[in-house]
Amino acid sequence: MKTIEDFNFEDKKALIRVDFNVPLDADFNVTDTNRIEAAKPSIIKVLEDGGSAILMSHMGRPKGQPNADMSLKHICHKVSEIIGVEVKFADDCVGEVAEKAVAELQQGEVLLLENLRFHGEETSGDQAFAEQLSRLGDFYINDAFGTAHRAHASTTIVAQFFTDRKCFGYLLAKEIKAIEKVMRTGEKPVTAILGGAKVSSKITIIENILDKVDHLIIGGGMTYTFVKAQGGSVGDSICEDDKMTMALDILRQAKEKGVAVHIPVDVVAADDFSNDANTKIIDVDKIEDGWQGLDAGPKTLENFKEVILNSKTILWNGPVGVFEMESFAKGTIAIGNYIDKATQNGAFSLVGGGDSVAAVKQFGFQDKVSYVSTGGGAMLESLEGKTLPGIAAILQG
Ligand code: AMP
Repeated sequence: MKTIEDFNFEDKKALIRVDFNVPLDADFNVTDTNRIEAAKPSIIKVLEDGGSAILMSHMGRPKGQPNADMSLKHICHKVSEIIGVEVKFADDCVGEVAEKAVAELQQGEVLLLENLRFHGEETSGDQAFAEQLSRLGDFYINDAFGTAHRAHASTTIVAQFFTDRKCFGYLLAKEIKAIEKVMRTGEKPVTAILGGAKVSSKITIIENILDKVDHLIIGGGMTYTFVKAQGGSVGDSICEDDKMTMALDILRQAKEKGVAVHIPVDVVAADDFSNDANTKIIDVDKIEDGWQGLDAGPKTLENFKEVILNSKTILWNGPVGVFEMESFAKGTIAIGNYIDKATQNGAFSLVGGGDSVAAVKQFGFQDKVSYVSTGGGAMLESLEGKTLPGIAAILQG
């Protein structure tokens, strides 16, 4: 795997695909700078080698049309501040404007190109557009994990024009290594904690990780499909009746593969989907009509705690309750605390995929786990066992 560490960029122009799809407020101020900070190490490496950096990214969904509200010009100042170098700006990401700006770029300088998605050819993965992008750099560095599952011009197609002059940036390399650690090289026992709302959105992940984990903890709204499938009463809990056969099949496969599956035994049930609802702790398979399970119960958390504290490698995807409501956040907070403790004891823990990161950030766990993935969809697809096109494009010669 070629990473940015394997190259020296002295006197070279590095075209870097970053993910600067950052949120802006009404005055176009960047309200979350995480993604810019995450791209900094790769940019600095190029500059310190004596090269120059050309940054390209998308922002929002302008649908192939220039859109002043989604111009990357708004963030140029913030990028300059974070990188510590005044960043120049090109009003287009291809063509004369971009090529002229690149030609004028000196060693140690940084150029930010206008939003790639102002051109419809970006998302359609157009060859000619990718070739135009490729003219802007001597090297291509992909450091945008968040879009690595898309076969877009700047994330995938452009790589073919840089046969042996392309590599992963630090951030993307870190993501790949973290996933590998969980899926292939992690120390045993390996535990996956899967929560979230629906079993249907996690089926492919479950099927893929059954070959890789020793323990599978199932929580959140998915629980009830498994419980009902086994004959339990789940009341008004979220449940996908048409996925019950699949749930039984997963349990059967897990047994065959020697994976221990841990499903909640008790839950916090509520008489309404609201923070102010009446609640009670009840066995997971004895929920009456009019009640719904919205968080993991105390016995369940004790069980989960034991598994998590004994794990050496942990993957966490999805909350075990409706964490957005304070009354049903305790289970998710407890899981975060157990993972924190396991990590302190030497386990490797990865959190990512979909909205998991929101829960982790809300409760301040981001610094307590080993790695928080920056890519929602890209992480989900990785966990499903798919080869991401943006990653494959760098690996192919
Ligand atoms: P996902 O994006 O699939 O990871 O799902 C996250 C969502 O699952 C969160 O918004 C939670 O509120 C929701 N969730 C977790 N547990 C439950 C539950 N028992 N009932 C309904 N929704 C749940």
